[in-house]
Amino acid sequence: MLTKRPRGTNDFLPEDTAKWQYVEKLLREICQQFGYAELRTPIFEETALFLRGVGDTTDIVQKEMYTFEDAGGRSITLRPENTASAVRAYVENKLFAGQQPVRLFYMGPMFRYERPQAGRFRQFHQFGVECFGADSPAADAEVIALAWEFYHRLGLQGLELNLNSVGCPKCRPAYRQALQDFLRPHLADLCPTCQERFEKNPLRILDCKNPQCQQFLQGAPTTLDSLCSECREHFSKVQAYLQAAEIPYRLNTRLVRGLDYYTNTAFEILLADIGAQSAVCGGGRYNGLVEELGGKPAPGVGFALGMERVFSALNAQGIELPKQPGLAVFVAVLDENARTQAFQLACQLRRAGLAVGYDTMERSLKAQFKYADSQGAAYTLLVGGDELARGSVILRDMQSSEQQEYPLDKVVASLQTKLAK
Ligand code: ATP
Ligand code: MG
Repeated sequence: MLTKRPRGTNDFLPEDTAKWQYVEKLLREICQQFGYAELRTPIFEETALFLRGVGDTTDIVQKEMYTFEDAGGRSITLRPENTASAVRAYVENKLFAGQQPVRLFYMGPMFRYERPQAGRFRQFHQFGVECFGADSPAADAEVIALAWEFYHRLGLQGLELNLNSVGCPKCRPAYRQALQDFLRPHLADLCPTCQERFEKNPLRILDCKNPQCQQFLQGAPTTLDSLCSECREHFSKVQAYLQAAEIPYRLNTRLVRGLDYYTNTAFEILLADIGAQSAVCGGGRYNGLVEELGGKPAPGVGFALGMERVFSALNAQGIELPKQPGLAVFVAVLDENARTQAFQLACQLRRAGLAVGYDTMERSLKAQFKYADSQGAAYTLLVGGDELARGSVILRDMQSSEQQEYPLDKVVASLQTKLAK
């Protein structure tokens, strides 16, 4: 019986992973420029971390988590996102005691039990950043600028940054009340999910995808109407910084994150081209989360972006990423007796830093040439025959078919010089 990969997962083959590596390298370069250092947390955590850190009224916690009991009877969950783990790591490793802010990035697989469809998988990959310890609106603008820079450098077009502020524990209760008062007359007509949200999490009704719920929201009060003076000032500075960075944005008062520990800025980057799953990046400020997870209160702001959706967008826009270089040289074997020496030469060339192919199929010379070509080899070294008997090998330029004889002890240096040109 052939076992297939689980639904909603992918195999990334070498032609795919070459692209992933390119994009990951770009992300690392940008993070280095912005002063963000890599954090790696476990792929699984105690379930309780996500119940608190993601919030038990969210879709993620209610229906999307991969949770199981391990052999020691602990409840374990495969991480559905990385912010909760980053906060845990910040607190557990006492990063709050060092120089602030702490600027971190992560990338890796996340797990959510969702209905698989285009751009939506059960194992998918996120890149994200978190900036802890800074409450300044400049930190919000910095993380947005980092995400923006990434999409921009890939050459993606048609990005739309949506921006909102959800206030703080001081001004939100009044907004919550205003929204509930506005929606109460229609409560019975809202979708079942929104009826549940009405008491627990009314802000989330704002981003319900149900058209009927959307209809009842016409003319609803917005969070921006209720911001306290600090939140208003914070939000207007975020916008001033974005303008200074020449990053265009659109105010979207329906953009919310419903939980109490989210504060101030909420943002999302959308890309029309990739169909229904148009959100490529989501983030915001979470000044209440560190405390929620047991740390001393500390502000935080960050985002997560979906890697698979980056590749969908690149495909949709016909953007080709630069190809990785092929082999520098293929070591071809002319006769049986030459195999060991050819292998030795291949090893010497690799030690000298070159990308080297060698025939492990014991094929004819013609087949070896064909293979060398398929691997993009710029040169082939022919090892064997009379040349080897007199201590030399033939170097063939695969483009011009020109051949030249080199003494074995000179060939490594000669090749290095040729390739450096
Ligand atoms: P969506 O509304 O698409 O479900 P979300 O609000 O659940 O998104 P976040 O938790 O904010 O998404 O995750 C950030 C980013 O991760 C999303 O913008 C998206 O690009 C990506 N993402 C989220 N879930 C998936 C998934 N199941 N498969 C692929 N990418 C995903
Ligand atoms: Mg989701």
